[in-house]
Amino acid sequence: MDTPIKYYSTNKQSSTVSFREATIKGQAPDKGLYFPDRIPQLREDVIANFRNLTKEELAYLTIRPYVGGDIPDTDLYKICSETVNFDFPLVQITDSISSLELFHGPTLAFKDVGARFMSRCLGYFSKNEKQKVTVLVATSGDTGSAVAAGFLGVEGVDVVILYPSGKVSKVQEQQLTTLGHNISALEVQGTFDDCQAMVKQAFADAELTSRMFLTSANSINVARWLPQQFYYLYGVQQWQGETPPVICVPSGNFGNVCAGLLAHVSGMPASHFVIACNDNDTFSGYLRTAAFTPKDAVPTISNAMDVGNPSNFVRILELFGHDHQRISQLIHSYTVSDDTTRETIASVYKDHHYLLDPHGAVAYHALEQYLSAHPQYRGFILETAHPVKFPDVVESVTGTHIEIPDSIRGLMAQQKKATLIPPHYAALKDYLTARL
Ligand SMILES: *Cc1c(COP(=O)(O)O)cnc(C)c1O
Repeated sequence: MDTPIKYYSTNKQSSTVSFREATIKGQAPDKGLYFPDRIPQLREDVIANFRNLTKEELAYLTIRPYVGGDIPDTDLYKICSETVNFDFPLVQITDSISSLELFHGPTLAFKDVGARFMSRCLGYFSKNEKQKVTVLVATSGDTGSAVAAGFLGVEGVDVVILYPSGKVSKVQEQQLTTLGHNISALEVQGTFDDCQAMVKQAFADAELTSRMFLTSANSINVARWLPQQFYYLYGVQQWQGETPPVICVPSGNFGNVCAGLLAHVSGMPASHFVIACNDNDTFSGYLRTAAFTPKDAVPTISNAMDVGNPSNFVRILELFGHDHQRISQLIHSYTVSDDTTRETIASVYKDHHYLLDPHGAVAYHALEQYLSAHPQYRGFILETAHPVKFPDVVESVTGTHIEIPDSIRGLMAQQKKATLIPPHYAALKDYLTARL
C-alpha cells in the first residue's frame, strides 16, 4: 500500500494536509490551492477493462487514491454511486464531432457532480463533529443551485445561500429557494459582490467562527474539483474510434478542464485538449507568450465562463511542472465571440438537428477549428448545460421553442421561501446567530 496522497498548497507557505482537511478547509491558509503531492496512475487492468466497468466502479477506482483512506471503502463507494446516478451520454453530432452531455443531473449543468460528491464527503466528515457544519455560499446563479441540490438532505450539514435580489433568473431563483429542509436562502438587497463580501466577512469573524463550524462550497475545493475527472473517463469509455479523441472543454475558472488533464496524466487516452473560451480568453495569451496576465471579466452570452482570472490556472501549471512547452504541445485554445456562438447554435441546429447551449456552442466552434487544421483526428465537446437554461438566446437564434423538462415545470410551480436582508454583514451575522 502506497502512503496516502497529501495535498500541498500551490503557494507553498502552508503545511500539507490530508484529503479530509483539504475538503473541510477549502482553500489553504496561505490562499493557495491544494494540489495532490503525486498523481496516481490508472491501473493497467482498469484501462484494459475500461468498457466493462460500470460508472460507479470507474468513479470509485479513480477517486479512491485521492481520498487516501479518509473515507472507508464501502462509504466511498456509496458516495460515488450517489454522485453519478444519472446519465452521461456521448451523442454523435457529425462524423467528426460528438457531444458528451453533462446536463442530465438535478440542476441541468455539469456542476452537479462536483457538488454532490463534495456534499457527501463533508457530510461524512462532519458525522463525528459535535457541531453541525454550516456551508455559506454567495452565488450569482448556477453554483448556488448545484450546491443547494447537492447538499439537500445531507445530515449534519446546513446550507445558507446568499443571492442578489432580482439578479438571478427565475429558474435559478426557484432552484435556490424552494428546496427547504437543510437549505436556506437569503435574498440580499444588493449585488453579487455584496453577497460575496458578506460571506468573506463571516469567515474572517473569529467570534462567529468560534461558535459555529463554518465552511465554503467554493469551486476550488478539492472535493469539487477531483470528481470532475469522471466525465472524461465516461466519454472515453463510450468513444468509438481508432485514435483517442480530441477533447474540447468550454472553460471559465478552468476547474473542469484541469480535471480532464489530470485524468490524462493518470493514463486516460486523449489525442489533444482544446480549451474553448468566450471573449474572456486570458489563457490564449499565456499559450502565445508564456506570460499570464489576468483581465477584468467582460459579460457574454456564455456567462458561466465570464472569468478574467481563472483560479485553477495555477493547477495546470503545477500539473505540468510549469513547463510552457509541454502545456502548449498538449493544449490549443480558441476564442469564440458571441456572434459566432449564436451562428453556431443556429447552424448546428439547422444542419444536424442538435440543440447546443451557448457554452457547448463555444466548444463546438473551437473543436471544429482545431479539426479542420488536424483532419486526422475526431473528438468530442463537453456540453456543460442544458439549452433550456438559456431559452432567450437559444430560441431566438433557432426560431424553435424548447420543450421544458418536467423537472423544471414542477419547480416553477413551487413556493419560494427566502429571507430578505439588507446588504450588510450585521444582517447576516444576526441571521446566523439566531440559528444557534
Ligand atoms: C461553470 C461552468 C463552466 C465553466 O467551468 P470551469 O470549470 O469554471 O472552467 C462552463 N459551462 C457551464 C454551463 C458552467 O456552469
